[in-house]
Amino acid sequence: QEDKFKKVISHAKEYGYVFQSSEIYDGLSAVYDYAQNGAELKNNIKQYWWKAMVQLHDNIVGIDSAIFMHPTVWKASGHVDAFNDPLIDNKDSKKRYRADVLIEDYCAKLENKINKEVTKAAKRFGEAFNKQEFVTTNPRVLGYQEKIDTILSRMGKSLENEDLADVKSLIEELDIVCPVSGSKNWTDVKQFNLMFGTKLGASADSAMDLYLRPETAQGIFVNFLNVQKTGRMKIPFGIAQIGKAFRNEIVARQFIFRQREFEQMEMQFFVRPGTQKEWYEAWKQNRIKWHLSLGIGEDNYRFHDHDKLAHYADAAADIEFKFPFGFKELEGIHSRTDFDLSSHEKHSGKKLQYFDHEINESYVPYVVETSIGLDRMFLAVFSNSLIEEELENGSTRTVLKLPAVLAPTKAAILPLVKKDGLPDVAKEIIEDLKWDFKVIYDEKDAVGRRYRRQDANGTPFCITVDHQTLEDKTVTIRHRDTMEQKRVAIADLKSIINAEVSM
Ligand code: ATP
Repeated sequence: QEDKFKKVISHAKEYGYVFQSSEIYDGLSAVYDYAQNGAELKNNIKQYWWKAMVQLHDNIVGIDSAIFMHPTVWKASGHVDAFNDPLIDNKDSKKRYRADVLIEDYCAKLENKINKEVTKAAKRFGEAFNKQEFVTTNPRVLGYQEKIDTILSRMGKSLENEDLADVKSLIEELDIVCPVSGSKNWTDVKQFNLMFGTKLGASADSAMDLYLRPETAQGIFVNFLNVQKTGRMKIPFGIAQIGKAFRNEIVARQFIFRQREFEQMEMQFFVRPGTQKEWYEAWKQNRIKWHLSLGIGEDNYRFHDHDKLAHYADAAADIEFKFPFGFKELEGIHSRTDFDLSSHEKHSGKKLQYFDHEINESYVPYVVETSIGLDRMFLAVFSNSLIEEELENGSTRTVLKLPAVLAPTKAAILPLVKKDGLPDVAKEIIEDLKWDFKVIYDEKDAVGRRYRRQDANGTPFCITVDHQTLEDKTVTIRHRDTMEQKRVAIADLKSIINAEVSM
């Protein structure tokens, strides 16, 4: 698993998908740049989402609000007071940890112990070994499992009640069972706000303290009435947006999964109070369908319904994805009640109500939100697509089986040799196709090597121009996943490619 993740990261760099930010200065931690292929993949994911959410719903419109917002927005949203992570320092190693993540790491260690017991038992009992039975009856395994469950629930409760002393003692207890840090010398747990502050204005005394937005949702809430009125929207309706968000994450690891600057694709759906549960369920189903439509495999997704709810929510679930480091949150679906709009009413003194002609009543709408991290979606798609395949002749090939609709380059056009006019024909094909698809030309190396390069790049089609092309205007088209090659007319290329790559 760890190995797979390392391969994902190095493949992303080697094939021009993701680079560490400011790499020549040794990088900036938890900040990444999307390279020539990464930017294309990211744009395609955005388009795939925008089309599904905005274009295909006549009651959803999209906006693009500013990153800077009036500072009171973040007071109203609760971010100034409640957008915190619990931190703990180790005095010996001088390392800083997010307390909840540290506790989860300990639990992962305990889980490892369980796995070791299982492997040992499997060896001992051979064919007679029944894993399920062993896990549910072996006292030592049961003990570990119980410990994990109690620790996680105790942590949840302590964090909810701001009982930070208990979080610390939990860490100290765990250190004894399975040391992570090799030290017992901890500071108290402190809350740390995740918003980045900055200043607007030139002179020191007139400058205004601002934040870089930690989520895109608030830009939608403050524009709710503007959009409703100018778009003459009737409830239920939605407002969508894609944009950057910033969080001063402390535990910045796992590549682009957790960054300090990232992108969100969010949609706030405004509904009549009392109908939010139905819409919440409907959006959960709608969003999982969207994911499955990419064909990445049903087993890679699961819902995680929240017991512990944020201050603004009356129901919440995550769509989790099986990343190379395990199931983790990819998207959140939240029933946010009227918390945000009501709070903005209070703080701004402006009415944010909707007059519902159907029932002749004014009210502050309830909101169901779908919020997905673009970078996490990128990582989900990318890591799942990277495959090492054993071929019949015993060799292996590395292939990036990106869904064709998302692939950065749709086709590579390859002249079989660099002479006899084949390059000219290949370039003519490019001239024709490039208006519809991102295509590239490649003439370097033997054609087999070029195929492998495109496989690793994720290009769904290779089109080879050979001597027969000069006679009958046909080419071979090779499919990345099946490696099947077919002879087709140049005139048919557009429709063949289009059938697989169109959204
Ligand atoms: P986590 O628990 O992983 O920190 P969160 O619950 O704080 O995430 P939300 O506030 O619900 O996340 O944000 C919505 C989505 O934005 C998440 O589902 C995730 O895909 C994405 N996201 C949040 N934080 C980051 C980050 N630091 N880097 C990349 N994507 C992020």
